[in-house]
Amino acid sequence: MDRITDSKYRGRLAPSPTGYLHLGHARTFWIAHERARSHSGTLVFRNEDLDPARSKSIFADAMIEDLRWLGLTWQEGPDIGGPFAPYAQSQRLALYRKAFEQLRNSGALFPCTCSRKDVLRALQAPHQGDEEPIYPGTCRQNDPSNPPPNAHWRFRVPDGEAIEFVDGFFGQQRFIAGRDFGDFVVWRNDGIPSYQLAVVVDDDAMQITEVVRGADLLLSTVRQLLLYRALSLNPPAFFHCPLLTDSSGTRLAKRHDALSLRALRSQGMTPEELRNKFAL
Ligand SMILES: [Zn+2]
Repeated sequence: MDRITDSKYRGRLAPSPTGYLHLGHARTFWIAHERARSHSGTLVFRNEDLDPARSKSIFADAMIEDLRWLGLTWQEGPDIGGPFAPYAQSQRLALYRKAFEQLRNSGALFPCTCSRKDVLRALQAPHQGDEEPIYPGTCRQNDPSNPPPNAHWRFRVPDGEAIEFVDGFFGQQRFIAGRDFGDFVVWRNDGIPSYQLAVVVDDDAMQITEVVRGADLLLSTVRQLLLYRALSLNPPAFFHCPLLTDSSGTRLAKRHDALSLRALRSQGMTPEELRNKFAL
């Protein structure tokens, strides 16, 4: 088999320690692992433990143990160190704050005091699904130099602009700002950066060349492309994996506890049997 020699390839595994990894995560991480390997590249393990209320060290230890059991190896990470340490987001807050201040000073953000409930209430149509509701623009006129107390900061999307990229798996993608996704939170009022900001800052700082993740994050990708642009950074390539579904067609989620790697392992499933299920 031909091996694409691209030693500059840098991929990443970026799990959140908010529960045990399940089959769906494992498949995505396996694909990320195989893509890095087929490029003779480097794989980075990053612990996305930003949310102190939901992240638990027991899950952080378990995700490393479970992925090693599955047969994954990585060349940089919280367990082995590397040139871009630290590899846990909770230890990288100063970097996110710097990017946030850059965005805020450039006028890309506005302070917003809406709760999620407020946003839902202001929508004209009932909101469905788990995608973030489109922000109705309530606080867009707020003065950034005089933010109300307890405001979070939202990115103002360019209404009507088509944001496009070519996905490594799904091909050409096109989403309209303000229609498919709206103004999104970049910095929370409890001092924690949003997922979108932290991931962009880290993927850039860790020189990631390709992001492999689940197709549920396609809309996150276009938000992140706007952040890359606003921060004058070059985005990596993207490869989104179709999501695994159960026999009834329902997406696998963390609530499927029986499908955690731990449970499958205790039922006698071997890593080889699991990996054989993972081919795209
Ligand atoms: Zn608001």
